[in-house]
Amino acid sequence: MLEGIIAENVKLQRKSRQWSLSQAALETGVSKAMLGQIERQESSPTMATLWKIAKGMQLPLTALIERHTDEQYCTPQPSINVDGVLDFSVLFSFDPLLRSEMFAHTLEPLKEHLSNAHQFGVIEDIIVISGTLEMLVDEQWCELLAGDTLRFRADQPHGYRNNSNIPVIFHNIIHYPA
Ligand code: MN
Repeated sequence: MLEGIIAENVKLQRKSRQWSLSQAALETGVSKAMLGQIERQESSPTMATLWKIAKGMQLPLTALIERHTDEQYCTPQPSINVDGVLDFSVLFSFDPLLRSEMFAHTLEPLKEHLSNAHQFGVIEDIIVISGTLEMLVDEQWCELLAGDTLRFRADQPHGYRNNSNIPVIFHNIIHYPA
């Protein structure tokens, strides 16, 4: 189901830019073959690939992973697991006025998720709900406990790690520059 939503969004966004698959490959750094497979639902993209597409198309992440509709639902968002590492659900979709989106993440014990730089100027806020989270920022790992917060520039490589033996739950707000 997630593959279907992603496929539809990627194709729609590419067509709205009048990009061929080759052009989209140039802009995103994702191979033409892989883009074709994603659009045909033959392959489920990793988080790294999704972020490359979002970056190349100048889109927030939720523009790719959510079904788009003008209606507002009172139903909880299902949790999504793209890589099998970082489990997440959407708390707030991207809002064009606020230019932010918000996720809840669960990271299982001894799991690590590394991320490439997002679009220039992107800021992330981390709020730890429970457990202990380690964050890689400016090439250094720092430890965050429940209730701790961290704001950092996410237009550089960064990482999320759980070195403990219980899952860590944290919220993540992504701010996109105007
Ligand atoms: Mn990130």
